[in-house]
Amino acid sequence: DVAAYRAKRLGRGRAEIFDDGLRAELSERAEMEIALRAGLEAGELHLNYQPVVNLTTGVLVGFEALARWNRPGVGPVRPDIFIAAAEASSFVCDLGRWVLHEATDRTARWRAAGQAGFVPGENEPTIAVNISGRHLADNRILDDVADALAASGLPPTLLVVEITETVLTDDPRAREHLRLLRERGVQVAIDDFGTGFTSISALSGTPADILKIDRSFIDSDDIGHHQLATLITRAAQTFQLRVIAEGIETQDQLARVRADGCEEAQGYLFSRPLTPEAAEILPRQLIPPRATGIPAQPGHPSRS
Ligand code: C2E
Ligand code: MG
Ligand code: MG
Ligand code: MG
Repeated sequence: DVAAYRAKRLGRGRAEIFDDGLRAELSERAEMEIALRAGLEAGELHLNYQPVVNLTTGVLVGFEALARWNRPGVGPVRPDIFIAAAEASSFVCDLGRWVLHEATDRTARWRAAGQAGFVPGENEPTIAVNISGRHLADNRILDDVADALAASGLPPTLLVVEITETVLTDDPRAREHLRLLRERGVQVAIDDFGTGFTSISALSGTPADILKIDRSFIDSDDIGHHQLATLITRAAQTFQLRVIAEGIETQDQLARVRADGCEEAQGYLFSRPLTPEAAEILPRQLIPPRATGIPAQPGHPSRS
């Protein structure tokens, strides 16, 4: 049967083309992972720090540490790209360990020196670190966090571990590790919430302190997305989670999340991720209390 034969050939041809594309992508990723491993050893990675602000008081309440890789001969590689390459193997645990040490060390230094919003007698800023699901499910996450806290001397209550919502459904060990981390005083934030199909009712049993509303709800023009953001904020508050709105760039977006009763926010409107040198000189009062005007850009513009 000629027709069937042709279809088969065509099918096989297609499969081969697909395989080639997949193979190229996989080897690109593997190549990047090797370069990233070497780059971490060689000190090519660094962290930037994006402020989180309380929308009522205007006070700097914390930072999120964001990894940067300036690859020699290539230039800056987007974090989602190199993080995905790292997640292909347990190397992502080594990377996570480095981020934990670097971020807690930097924050402990700021704290000791009274810099970066650390003012004696006032609430202290927290440091949030993104942890990949693979690392969270791995046994060594508990030691890695404990080691970073011990080495830096940072109180556990000032560390926030950020995980994406899919981690909660993927692996029971991840949940258990979160529970243990919280038992030791570390805070847990669910990152990019609303993108991962977690049902809102699942929040009731979730070992977390903070919920971060994904930027896609903030920068959308779709009224449906705005209503979802409102619902997510209400649900989070019902489960006694603090809510952080991610990716605030405009006054309109700020007004909307404020109207939702969202207490904290992060975004270019307040500050881009900053180099440690720029973060170090931030004032504690990041914006005027209940400001309605555009806040001044704090610190220096950063490379990120
Ligand atoms: P994320 O954890 O959701 O981090 C927030 C991202 O939004 C950052 O992108 C930040 O620069 C960006 N952002 C903040 N405010 C605004 C805004 O107003 N407008 C826009 N357009 N973007 C804003 P970045 O640094 O490119 O990181 C992307 C993602 O890569 C992160 O998303 C996080 O999932 C991952 N990532 C970054 N650093 C690390 C790390 O050290 N470890 C792990 N596992 N993942 C990391
Ligand atoms: Mg994050
Ligand atoms: Mg996020
Ligand atoms: Mg994200």
